[in-house]
Order: sequence, then structure tokens, then C-alpha cells
Amino acid sequence: MSRIFSGIQPSGSLHIGNYLGAVKNWVDLQNKYESFFCVVDYHAITLPYRPADLRARTTDMALSLLAAGLDPEKCTLFVQSMVPEHTELAWIFNTLTPLGELERQTQFKDKASREESVPAGLLNYPVLQAADILLYRAELVPVGEDQLQHLELSREIARKWNARFDVEGGFFPEPKGLLTPTRRIMGLDGQAKMSKSLGNTVDLLEPPESIWEKLRPAVTDPKRVRRTDPGTPEVCNIYHLHKAFSPPATVEHVAVQCSTAGWGCIDCKRVLHASMEKELAPIRARAVEVAANPERVTEILSDGAEHARAVAHETMVEVKDKMGLR
Ligand code: SF4
Repeated sequence: MSRIFSGIQPSGSLHIGNYLGAVKNWVDLQNKYESFFCVVDYHAITLPYRPADLRARTTDMALSLLAAGLDPEKCTLFVQSMVPEHTELAWIFNTLTPLGELERQTQFKDKASREESVPAGLLNYPVLQAADILLYRAELVPVGEDQLQHLELSREIARKWNARFDVEGGFFPEPKGLLTPTRRIMGLDGQAKMSKSLGNTVDLLEPPESIWEKLRPAVTDPKRVRRTDPGTPEVCNIYHLHKAFSPPATVEHVAVQCSTAGWGCIDCKRVLHASMEKELAPIRARAVEVAANPERVTEILSDGAEHARAVAHETMVEVKDKMGLR
């Protein structure tokens, strides 16, 4: 069974963009691969934050992941800071990574342009990401398209390390991207990717009434001004949400009704709301169960970290030996 690794920032509870863009796929992948899923809290400290918030967000994220369907019997779920080998390997990789390579990363340029003082951690973020993946010698990494550049750097680091320290070659596999089937989910404003900081999200555990309050005014095809104007489903975010939540026959119906002005956008959103409810109601129910037993969540994360550490330790023993470290 091939091994996969993927991480998610502890941003509190999941929103449907995270769910559709990553976690729903993980729930499926845990049945097919030896899976390591990690709440990457070391990645969340590159910019100022409050420790109590981080702790709460990490717990909420773990709870959301379990509610969404990650099963500790099928995958290893853990928190990055419970496995110190991540930062140990990241330091080693830092010594091999050219500065120019890091400065060229689009996400760094984007984030750094918004900061007055740029911490080195922001620059080295993709090196830690390479360590996250390679520590488990994962062959596959479920990613969205925006993560492919970082993954390429991980592959390059693996190549470089193998060339310098592993004469037989191939100690670290060059991890390949496993592209998430769902396309990038836009926020309800239809302007940008769904993101908590932009306030355009629907929370995975949000009550149905509140989801409807957000869906009702959500942006649709701007050319559909009147009810009688035919629309173009492909340009409408609501249509893409239908593709993610509604069965194929409904998606087809939506496309026809929209392009022939057979119904109004509110009718269309009502159907979407019903489809979302079908998928999200059981997740909300599971979240209530998980939240009622916080000791179990702690236990799942401890067991996950223990297993992850055992694998990480094996990697580090070989890495240090090959590098002449003690
Ligand atoms: Fe979008 Fe549906 Fe309105 Fe068409 S009918 S523009 S798909 S909300």
C-alpha cells in the first residue's frame, strides 16, 4: 500500500472550501492508502498569534476532521508539534535549499509583500513542508493546484539529499501530487478563494438556517439581472457548489433551468441548500458526538502522534547515520 501524507493548518473548524478541496478526498483516500494526516501547527506560527487561540483552533480542527469522516482505525491523525522530528529534518533540509529557490515561491512573495518585517519562518515554510512529507517517506501527496510549486521543491530537496548522502539512491522517494478532484472553491462573494480571513465562507458545522442566510444573497451569474434572463451556469459559483454537493441528475437539471431561464436563482439555491443539508447534517451529528467526548479526541491524537513518531524516528536514525550525525 503506497503511503500518503497531507497537512492542514489549525484554522479552527473546517469551512466547506477546506472540506471539498481537501478533507472529503482524504476520507476517501484513507481507504486506499497508508495515510498520515497532520494538523500542521508549526506552520501556523510564522506570523503573530495568540497561544490560547492556537491551542483551541488545533483542537477544533481535529474535531472537524473526525466529524468529516477521518477514521483513526484507517489513518494516522496527529498534530505536528507532537512529533519534533518534523523540525529536526526541516533544519537538515534548510542546509541544502538555495535561498533563491525559496524567494521565488509565489506564496512567499504574496505573503511577504503584505508584511512590514518578514520572519525567516515564512521563507522557510516550504522546507518544513518538505520535511513533513519526506519524514514519512510518503510517495503521494494529495494537493490542490496552488500547492504544486511547493511539492516540486520537496521533490528537488529529496533529489538533492539522495544525491549527496545516499549513494545507492532513492532513500527519499520523490513525492508525487495526487490532485484533488474538486476544483478550487470560491467564496460566496464569487470574488476569491473561500477563506476565513475574507469572511466569505460557510462553516462545515454551521446550522442550516445560517447557511441559508449566507446562500440567499450569494453572488451568481452577474448577467442574470432579471428572472427571465437566461444564465451561464459555468460562470456561477452556485453551479460549482451544485457540482460538489448535488447528484449528477440535479446538476444537469440546474444547467438546463439556468440556461433557459426556467427558474430563478433563489429556486436554484433552495435545491443546493437541500443537497448540502443531505451531506452536512450527518457531519454535524458526528461533531456533536465527538465534542461530547474530548478525552477520546486527546487519545486519538496521542495514539496518532505515537505511531507517527515511530515512523519518523526510523527515518531520522537512517538520515543521521548517512549524514555522519549522532
Ligand atoms: Fe447560478 Fe443557479 Fe442562478 Fe444559474 S440559476 S445563475 S446556476 S444560481
